[in-house]
Amino acid sequence: KKTHVKCYQMIRLAISKGRILEEVVDILNRADVVCKFDPLKSRKLIIPTNHKNIEIVLIKATDVPVYIDSGKVDIGIVGIDTLLENDIENHFRLMDLNIAKCRLVVAGKSNKKYYNNMKVATKYPNIAKKYFEQIGLQCSILKLYGSIELAPVLNLSDFIVDIVDSGKTIKENGLKEYDIISDVSSLLISNKVSYKLKREEIESFLKRVR
Ligand code: ADP
Ligand code: MG
Repeated sequence: KKTHVKCYQMIRLAISKGRILEEVVDILNRADVVCKFDPLKSRKLIIPTNHKNIEIVLIKATDVPVYIDSGKVDIGIVGIDTLLENDIENHFRLMDLNIAKCRLVVAGKSNKKYYNNMKVATKYPNIAKKYFEQIGLQCSILKLYGSIELAPVLNLSDFIVDIVDSGKTIKENGLKEYDIISDVSSLLISNKVSYKLKREEIESFLKRVR
C-alpha cells in the first residue's frame, strides 16, 4: 500500500514590531500558530512556528507593503494607514482584524483655518497631499518621523496629519481635531500571486484566525 504524503508549501507571514506586535501575537496564539521564539523578546527576524509551513517575519510596519509587493513574503498584517500611504497594487485584502484601531486626522492649534499653501507636517505625505487636493487646497508638506504634534505647537507647521487613538496627545498639547481622513485598523493582506499559488495554505491559515 502506498502512503500519500501531502507536501505543503511554506507561507511567510509578515508582522511588525512596534505597537501592534503584542495584539498580533495574541491573535496568532489563539489561532494555534505559536512562535518557536518569542517575537517580543527574541532578536530573530525570521521565526519558525509550530506549523512546519508557517514562518513569521518581523518587519518594520512601513516596510511590510514593500515585502508583500515583491512576493518575498506571502501574507502580512498591516495598518490601513500604511496601505493608503504606499498605494501598492499587488495585494489582496483578505480580512479586517479589527485591531490597532485608530483614525487618521487633521489637527492643529484651535481657531485656525485651512488656506492655500499652508504647511502640513506628517508621517503620511501622500495621504495628506491627496486629502487636501480633494478638498481643493494645495499645501506644502513637511515630512517628519515622530512626535508630529510638536510641529504646530512650535509653529513649524499650520496643521498635522497624524494617527489619533484616544485623542489624549492632541489635547495635552493644546491641539484640536479638524477632520477625520480615514478610520484605521489592521488588515491581513496577501500577495496576489502567492494567493493563487498557495491558496489552500493561506485559506487554512485564515480559517484558524477567524
Ligand atoms: P511606527 O514606529 O512606524 O510609528 P507603530 O508601531 O507606531 O509604527 O505603528 C504601526 C501601526 O500601528 C500604524 O501603521 C497604525 O496602523 C497602528 N497604530 C499606530 N498608532 C496607533 C494608535 N495610537 N492606536 C492604534 N493603532 C495605532
Ligand atoms: Mg508610532
